[in-house]
Amino acid sequence: MITALLLAGALASGDEGVRAAREEFNAAIARRDAVAIGRLLAPGYHIVTGRSDQSHGARVEAERWAARFASDPAVAYRRSPREVRVNEAWGLAEETGDWTGSFTSGSSRGRAAGVYAAKWQRALDGRWLIQSEVFTTMSCEGPAAACPPPDPIEEVKAGSAGRLAHPAQKLKITVLSTMLTSGQGVGEWGFAALVEADGKRWLIDTGARAETVLRNATELGIELSDITDVVLTHNHADHTGGLLTLRRELAVRNPKALSRAHVGAGIFEPRLQPDGKDANGLRPLVAAYEASGGVFVVHDGAEELSPGVWFTGPVPRVHSERNWSGSLKVRTGGGLAEDTVAEDSAIVIETGQGLVIVTGCGHAGIVNIVDHARKTVGGASVHAVIGGLHLFPASDEQLAWTAARLREAGLVHLLGAHCTGIEAVFRLRDLANLSRRTAVVAAVGASFTLGPGIDPLALAR
Ligand SMILES: [Zn+2]
Ligand SMILES: [Zn+2]
Repeated sequence: MITALLLAGALASGDEGVRAAREEFNAAIARRDAVAIGRLLAPGYHIVTGRSDQSHGARVEAERWAARFASDPAVAYRRSPREVRVNEAWGLAEETGDWTGSFTSGSSRGRAAGVYAAKWQRALDGRWLIQSEVFTTMSCEGPAAACPPPDPIEEVKAGSAGRLAHPAQKLKITVLSTMLTSGQGVGEWGFAALVEADGKRWLIDTGARAETVLRNATELGIELSDITDVVLTHNHADHTGGLLTLRRELAVRNPKALSRAHVGAGIFEPRLQPDGKDANGLRPLVAAYEASGGVFVVHDGAEELSPGVWFTGPVPRVHSERNWSGSLKVRTGGGLAEDTVAEDSAIVIETGQGLVIVTGCGHAGIVNIVDHARKTVGGASVHAVIGGLHLFPASDEQLAWTAARLREAGLVHLLGAHCTGIEAVFRLRDLANLSRRTAVVAAVGASFTLGPGIDPLALAR
């Protein structure tokens, strides 16, 4: 009898502990406290949202809430447990219940409701933490824009071209500025690459130092003066530093060389340092570039530059990857806001093997870039990612999440240059099931060719 009573008491305490933690979670949402939300999540937390989006990691989830509170100050959610079942011996619990929410999507307000299941686990210090949550939306009221249904489930097969209209037959991408060298050229904290697709050629970014790309191309025996179009992925000086020198030097041989610069909308916005100075790396070059006959082509959405070669325009930030430094501010109608490098754009090339993506610094987040590329260009698998992924400061958790998404997208080749980070390339290699031949740290002159794959040169072989 006493044992039974004790057991009942223990069960009640677990049940109450979970319910109290759930109330803490509701209170944290109500007072817009993403940090408090993060403290209620286990490090490996996983969520399947009401729209069937998924994300992984307590830090990622806390950042998702922080971004939500910032963009939608009136957002409100409440979870009400119906039943909590506890395994006291193992410190596990399942909570099922009902949820309601009201939120802004674009400019429309929506209200939704549904059911959920949460798995809790007691931590060593006795606190209950959420391991995973699955939300199912049962109703959503509001304009259609506020209540988009889940994305359809698309099956991704590596090597599938999907519905691509203009797959490139021949494609080569050569890195012209990055940190590492392998005997030819000089290294720097910067990025530039040459894209050659079916006879057309583009320069993507221009390196950090004025002379780097020019000298590296000369040493590698690569002629750049027939290239008319340069793509600037974002404003940072480590991508724009060579623009004027390249334009002036190459114009001697071809007046049209690099005379058109494709950029994402918003690239000219000032980026303010704490002392109020503007750190935009492109603005100081605009007048001289235009005086030399150069023209900026500003894109606010995805555009096909030539059949099968796309400029993404600013990549929407669906996942909160936060791949930027966070030290600069931009002016907005409501005062100063964190500079998220909103103009960050990438190049996407259609091939018979899937999409090939070239990214400068990946500030939009490589998963956002991949998702956007598949949405705008075609639902094909991603055959190769080349360039800077800004994952050098990423946590193990973020790398695991990123690798899982890249694996889902069918990634076969990764040529990680510039700010991708050395450790990050090796982690992604393991976690995304790539190999020594297919996941490589880029050196100056390293290349990816459709068919043969990556030529890493000697050092990174
Ligand atoms: Zn950058
Ligand atoms: Zn960079």
